[in-house]
Amino acid sequence: MALKLSDKPRVLIVGGGYVGLTVAQRLQKKVKASGGVVTLVDPLPYMTYQPFLPEVVGGHIEARHAVVPHRRHLKDTEIITGKVTSVDHDAKTAVVGLDEGESIEVPYQDIVMAAGATTRTFPIEGLAENGIGLKTIEEALGLRNHILERLEAASTMTDEAAKRRALSFAVIGGGFAGIECIAEMEDIIRAAVDQNPRLAQSDVRIVLVEAMGRIMPEVSEEQAVGVVEHLRGRGIEVLLNTSLGSAVDGELTLISMEDKSEVDRFAADTLVWTAGVAANAVARASSFPVDERGRITGSATLQILNEDGQAIEGAWTAGDIAAIPDLTGAGPGGFCVPNAQHAVRQAKHLVKNLLAARYGTGEITEYKHESLGAVAGLGLYKGVGNPMGLKLSGVFAWAAHRGYHGYAIPTVERKARVLCGWASEMVFGRDLTGLRDLENPTKAFFEAAGGGEKSKSKG
Ligand SMILES: Cc1cc2nc3c(=O)[nH]c(=O)nc-3n(C[C@H](O)[C@H](O)[C@H](O)COP(=O)(O)OP(=O)(O)OC[C@H]3O[C@@H](n4cnc5c(N)ncnc54)[C@H](O)[C@@H]3O)c2cc1C
Repeated sequence: MALKLSDKPRVLIVGGGYVGLTVAQRLQKKVKASGGVVTLVDPLPYMTYQPFLPEVVGGHIEARHAVVPHRRHLKDTEIITGKVTSVDHDAKTAVVGLDEGESIEVPYQDIVMAAGATTRTFPIEGLAENGIGLKTIEEALGLRNHILERLEAASTMTDEAAKRRALSFAVIGGGFAGIECIAEMEDIIRAAVDQNPRLAQSDVRIVLVEAMGRIMPEVSEEQAVGVVEHLRGRGIEVLLNTSLGSAVDGELTLISMEDKSEVDRFAADTLVWTAGVAANAVARASSFPVDERGRITGSATLQILNEDGQAIEGAWTAGDIAAIPDLTGAGPGGFCVPNAQHAVRQAKHLVKNLLAARYGTGEITEYKHESLGAVAGLGLYKGVGNPMGLKLSGVFAWAAHRGYHGYAIPTVERKARVLCGWASEMVFGRDLTGLRDLENPTKAFFEAAGGGEKSKSKG
């Protein structure tokens, strides 16, 4: 039996992340009232508020609260949980791979390409097998549980080398995500070690590796130097101009970017990779032109451009998957940087333009946004940033970080859940519970049912 889809003229949204959710929220009722349908396709049934992933690692936010479920908040949208595998704009159809392996063709009138970005890696031996990224809620939760499990395991180890390995943590990439992540990691590691009498802070090694000569390009050089000092003051080793050479069997080799010599070699059970993002591969699997970085070429009106630089009828894009000109002139290479600040504003602007083009509700206008600056959380009560040009650090930056993102996470219901979580942490203190066997939840039943001992999962 074929999947039943609406036969109304369709606005197809590829990706239900920050852009996709915002576009669908703002478009669904208007398109419905005009006799059409908004369809959103995403392999996940929720949007992930990625700026909260480090706080999920730190345990300040419950993993479920950092995501926004599509069905609850998109009641007038046709939702397909699946992955767009190709787009043929001449035929105005997209192919969607469904969970059970079947593929369907979805016709559309207008398309919004909003599949974001994926983690960008390099062919480093052992990285795929031993590393973890920080782009999804599952990674953030898995990383948190893994860290807490390794600390508990280390506290009963008698083999010194195995214990050193369990207590060694490396993060590769000193951008915003990497710095926020390592700061949250250090915070929970310190708190967990404090409550375990068999562990000492001096047993732990936490290393940040950054290939450039500085971290966090989003803040001033002076602030970045301040963050390096701050992290070093917390016992984190910060290695600049250094890269990961190999990670075979969790044995990490670090290489100098200057002369390619080996800087260090150590075994670590925890290797986090946050060294950049790349436009989602579905861009190349579409019939739309992409630039040399695989991004869909868009205009400041958020329309997709053909090879001659002309807007393609019925084709729109925004967010991390797109190369959108930054009309303020501030963006690197002349393009908007891939961040949430642009994603949500581009999405709102795109909706106005799409309605103007399709239903004649106004003029198509160009997107232009002056950056509001950036602010990072560095663990409880610590932060750094330059919101609205103000140089902030410490508890003020941390409060600005929470204030901004608490306001920015979509939907009142999710804001309330996050705020309640923060409030209960203030009352009851940090929750250091690490959940076990999430990747192998049938283990206990299997053993109880006489199946012997099931192989142990990592997390
Ligand atoms: C750890 C971390 C911290 C961050 N912190 C900040 C911050 O503090 N401030 C800030 O401004 N920005 C921050 N960002 C960046 C910000 O989250 C992104 O720029 C923003 O989410 C981009 O929105 P998007 O809709 O383009 O992509 P996304 O939000 O990534 O959404 C893409 C969606 O497309 C879906 N998808 C993927 N492939 C397919 C397919 N083939 N078919 C259909 N759907 C598909 C995905 O499942 C996803 O739901 C952070 C990012 C990370 C990873």
